[in-house]
Amino acid sequence: LNNPSGTAASAAAAAGVPAASSSRPRATSDYGSIRASALHQARLRIESDVDCVSYAPDVTVEGTERQRLVDNSGEWYFESQHAVSGEELLSAKFESLDYDTCENSLWAAEDQSRTVWDLRRIELCRWLVHLLIGVVTGAIAFFIDVCIEQLAKVKYRYMKSMLDRCIFHDCLIYALLLWIAFNFIFVLIASCLTVFGEPVAAGSGIPQIKCFLNGIQVPRVVRLRTLVCKVLGVLFSVVGGLAVGKEGPMIHSGSVVGAGLSQGRAASFKFDLGIFEYFRTDAEKRDFVSGGAAAGVAAAFGAPVGGVLFALEEGASFWNQGLTWRIFFSSMTSSFTLAFLLGFYRGIPNDLSNPGLISFGKFDKLDYDLLHLAIFACMGVVGGLSGALFNTLNEHLTKFRHRYVTSKLGQLTEAVLVASITAVTSFVLIYTVRSCQPLGSDQMEYPVQMYCPDGKFSSMAALLFQTPEAAVRSLLHDPVGTYSVTGLIAFCLPYLLIATWTYGVMVPSGLFIPSLLIGAAWGRGVGIGLNLLFPTHFTDPGKFALIGAAAQLGGIVRMTISLSVILIEATGNVLFGLPIMVVLMVAKWVGDYFGTGIYDMHIELASVPLLPWEPPSRSAAVSAQAVMSSPVTCLYRQERVSRIVEILRAEPHNGFPVVSGDLGPGTFGTFEGLVTRNQLICLLDMRLFDDGDPNFHLENPVSLSDFRRVYPRFPSVRQLQLSEADLMKSVDLGRYMNPAPYMVLHTCSLARIFRLVRGLGLRHLVVIDHRNQVVGMVTRKDLARFRATHTGDLKELQFTG
Ligand code: ATP
Repeated sequence: LNNPSGTAASAAAAAGVPAASSSRPRATSDYGSIRASALHQARLRIESDVDCVSYAPDVTVEGTERQRLVDNSGEWYFESQHAVSGEELLSAKFESLDYDTCENSLWAAEDQSRTVWDLRRIELCRWLVHLLIGVVTGAIAFFIDVCIEQLAKVKYRYMKSMLDRCIFHDCLIYALLLWIAFNFIFVLIASCLTVFGEPVAAGSGIPQIKCFLNGIQVPRVVRLRTLVCKVLGVLFSVVGGLAVGKEGPMIHSGSVVGAGLSQGRAASFKFDLGIFEYFRTDAEKRDFVSGGAAAGVAAAFGAPVGGVLFALEEGASFWNQGLTWRIFFSSMTSSFTLAFLLGFYRGIPNDLSNPGLISFGKFDKLDYDLLHLAIFACMGVVGGLSGALFNTLNEHLTKFRHRYVTSKLGQLTEAVLVASITAVTSFVLIYTVRSCQPLGSDQMEYPVQMYCPDGKFSSMAALLFQTPEAAVRSLLHDPVGTYSVTGLIAFCLPYLLIATWTYGVMVPSGLFIPSLLIGAAWGRGVGIGLNLLFPTHFTDPGKFALIGAAAQLGGIVRMTISLSVILIEATGNVLFGLPIMVVLMVAKWVGDYFGTGIYDMHIELASVPLLPWEPPSRSAAVSAQAVMSSPVTCLYRQERVSRIVEILRAEPHNGFPVVSGDLGPGTFGTFEGLVTRNQLICLLDMRLFDDGDPNFHLENPVSLSDFRRVYPRFPSVRQLQLSEADLMKSVDLGRYMNPAPYMVLHTCSLARIFRLVRGLGLRHLVVIDHRNQVVGMVTRKDLARFRATHTGDLKELQFTG
């Protein structure tokens, strides 16, 4: 058996990666079969009976993945130990980020050479970058807000005058066509920016940022081009009338700002300011991305503390006091910048109390008693159930999309179709639901009279004839009697379906606002019902709208502490914190019973190998041998250039242990350190071929800056131009390798390995035996394969290419 099924190594082989040639010095190992036998007993029993020469995952038959073993005489099918559905595959194409510091001799030399002033300068630069992140993120939020406001003004002014005219002239069809045309054009622009500009700008970006902070390199997610497409795209999709908000995309935008500013250059434009060079590592960049995400939340909701907690809850694997303080600084700066700019824009420059992009407005009274709390908890149950329904529908739609809506034309068509259907549905609702409210009771700018008597306007139009943020505020603050229960139900159901369809369409789109709007609508319905039943006790339906909004959002996204604080900050009433927390907790528990939150669901559907917070249950009994890859491709300390090039070309791996001593049956080489692919490529590119000459490094001094210069876009091995003479030379890897990387004994448990890798953000973990010989390699992807089933058992997912 040369390719044990189910291992990531076999996945690489299945993906067409050439296997290392047998002529290469490589230890043969027993550990591979030990690993396999631990988790593939049934499989191995069968495999050991056949002369298996290849393995491939095959068709899904009645919900159970069957696997095909091919030998020289035919094929056998057998059921694997557990049913594997399509979404339970992990993709091997995502590379990992490395949040560990490579403490090699260059790093030590740099560290030694630093004076106390250098250290202070670096710390000062860190604060400066966080300040800039806050300012730029706040400015972007301001730009988005103002553009949306201006474009929405144009759109709704034209449409209102058309509607008002057409009511009398019986030409409502033209008003509808105008509405469709507006939505169509704006959404087409948003979708073109996404489909042709930068596809990774689609959606809210929160799942992608979550993955980045988890240690996964999502291609192009923090590029400048992505930022431009995201910012322009989201304002067109909001003005295009889609059931989307601009808040989620602000989090993504803030993260890109964090990643970009901290590097002091724009690699896409080959533009380098030559500053902040020290921050060009994955670990430093991650901290700035966290700061950017927090600044995005702060600008979106006017919630700086919520921003910090969001970065903590959703991502950062490594956290310390200094980082918390700096991230808080970014968040505060971002809120302040937005408030300052909005103050100027609105002609009150001294007013710094402008909240974030969304404000829930001022609540006069948010009192509650135990009876209220019990009702709020029940609303949490409803939020959990409807959130689960939303996620389930969206999951099916996303799978459908992955399968059938793959061409660019298809994606554009879907986006404009959703935009047109949203316009038609809104129009039909305003036309058919004839509930009227007196003028002056609502803050909306363009009240639509439709068939209401003079002095009144359509309350359904109050929800649909303005941006969703404004509609949420209407539901929270409009006086009793503004909306009818039937009107709210008539709004809620189609809007839920449209919002479900919209999330995942190829446009930048946030989920917070549509979720809040749906929840606020049914929550207000509950408030109105209670008010009718007990008019003296439940006087304010707006309070129930707020709880409904929290419940619905909590049921969909399943965030806990950060969402509680965001909502508390957005309402500006800390005393209402308890009900918000209760409702979010209940919504999460109920929703979790049916499946994961929407962001995790999308991450799973994209087959991203995300590491959860905790090791899967029952992993304490599984040892490193069951997880690691073996045999390991190793390098010698003094290594021939030709062999390095050969390995880099043949192997997909990014980390190689450096060993000394013999490799052969039963001996694996004594562990000396770990060198990464990027380091190897850099030193080949710089031709640091010393050929064993001890004076070479004195004559050809290099520093870490030489390596950082190419970060993060290292050339591939095929781009290296090495002559025949170069290939004959050798390199001393000892200077560049990490001489003390994290490693574990082969007896170490999976649970412990998991905590180590997750907690420290490691990419590679070398497994040694009691003789300090390299017997295996564990990467974060190896760990991501292991998940707990519903019954608490350990299951192993498969990798696809
Ligand atoms: P990443 O792609 O996450 O950045 P990587 O390419 O080094 O890192 P993976 O893609 O996670 O590693 O590795 C795929 C499989 O190859 C894993 O099962 C891992 O254990 C194995 N592997 C990684 N490095 C080596 C190596 N040097 N020798 C043998 N197997 C390895």
